[in-house]
Amino acid sequence: MDMSMSAQVYIMSCYQFPRVPGFNLVTKIGSGTFSEVYKAYRFVKSSKQVVAVKCIVKNELSASTVDNIIHEIEALKLLRHPHIIQMIDFSWDSNFIYIIMEYCEGGDLSVFVRSHKQLQEKICKSFLCQLASALQYLRQHNIVHMDLKPSNLLLTSRRNPVLKLADFGLAQSLKNRQKETSFRGSPLYMAPEILRRESYDASVDLWSTGVILYECLFGKPPCSSSSLKELVEDIQSKATIIIPTTKDISADCKDLLERLLQKDPNKRMTFDEFFNHPFVRISVASSNVAEPEAKLVFERARNLDKLNRRSEAVILYRQAQTLLNRLIPAVDIAMVRESQIREKLEVCSRRIQDIESAENVLKQNTLSAEAPLSRDLPTKMSPTFQELHSLSSTTPDLLSSLEIGLEGVQYDGEGQHAVALERYKAALEKLIPLLRSESKGLRRELLRLQITLWMERAEQLQIFHDLHQSNLEELQSGDASGYCSLQ
Ligand code: ATP
Repeated sequence: MDMSMSAQVYIMSCYQFPRVPGFNLVTKIGSGTFSEVYKAYRFVKSSKQVVAVKCIVKNELSASTVDNIIHEIEALKLLRHPHIIQMIDFSWDSNFIYIIMEYCEGGDLSVFVRSHKQLQEKICKSFLCQLASALQYLRQHNIVHMDLKPSNLLLTSRRNPVLKLADFGLAQSLKNRQKETSFRGSPLYMAPEILRRESYDASVDLWSTGVILYECLFGKPPCSSSSLKELVEDIQSKATIIIPTTKDISADCKDLLERLLQKDPNKRMTFDEFFNHPFVRISVASSNVAEPEAKLVFERARNLDKLNRRSEAVILYRQAQTLLNRLIPAVDIAMVRESQIREKLEVCSRRIQDIESAENVLKQNTLSAEAPLSRDLPTKMSPTFQELHSLSSTTPDLLSSLEIGLEGVQYDGEGQHAVALERYKAALEKLIPLLRSESKGLRRELLRLQITLWMERAEQLQIFHDLHQSNLEELQSGDASGYCSLQ
């Protein structure tokens, strides 16, 4: 983005070069309305860590802008997602507020589009899916971005670019305030209802997403008049956005564009429709849910395999295969990731084959399924649980999820294994996302440990349950009286 006049004036008026203790600022990467962004590095132990430092000029900022900046810092600190820029730290001095964040060496999407003029549909689709994944994550955290534009979409590299959403200066928590009536954002990507000064909500991000997709496909945004006045009039007008016929795009892509670029927010598609649209659906599921899950399941399978718990490993290798296969369509840009996924898939099928042909484990484990149950039976209120519980008193979500898990432990102790399994699963479903947003420290370590313990136990119970089910089916085809209930 071009250096804005205001940033230039402010920075020159300071006669101060930004300095962040512990970091060497090397080159200026870009600038925005109130900020300049520098590439910087610091030495951590013996390795060099490259970061981006956003320096926000403090003087003459209005109170509401300072509020926005603080919000940006808070929002960035909490978010952890593969397609959202990671904030590392922040500090300030008398002239600047410094935000230290993950560095993206591929520049931003506006430069990428400009240098390619127009992007192929499959590249646009890949970027869009990554953005959708980030937006879905934001929705889950009740955050609306409200300043989506190509210069806020950063790329990790130019050869294999992975997209990361940045700049939450205007992000708003939707909690307790569904509708906004103030004026925010930048006109080119701004939804008509904002320009018309009507009330608006999170759906403005869908409009901006439509404009970004349009620009990637056709090289310029749908409304791009030469003067600001004409531009605003053009966006505000009721005239329907016409999708050009100069480029051959798929029916799904055209349908999505038309539904995103509805000037009337009531006619615009909803977030759920967007996340489930055929042009975006696969990658949203893939990068947001399946990727961390696939990695976790794969690692669990490897660990169980190493521990010689092969029947359990096979089950998890199969689950990992399903999740990894779902990732493949989402990675047509990031070749590196694709090769990693394929390597893991290779490991899964090789190990399943080896284990099954060597031992035929699943068939040998018939009704004598006491073994997985007798191993490592969880004790009530283990020291890990007790400590974690006491550190969670200020976090109601965490506390209530731990208590669900504790119910699992109690049912487990009473031999009510089916209910215990259901409780463990319910607890894990809540605890795993909480772990992702938990900051580093003792509580995070304890939480990770507790999740691992309950996952292991839930897997044992699941295997026990599955074995009973298959034995039941065998028995039912003969004499059903041999079945004994899981409970
Ligand atoms: P405005 O603040 O006016 O909305 P902006 O969002 O482009 O504009 P900045 O957030 O200051 O302003 O970013 C300026 C430019 O710096 C971006 O357009 C981008 O090219 C670059 N940039 C920002 N953050 C990073 C980063 N983490 N890694 C690499 N480049 C970055």
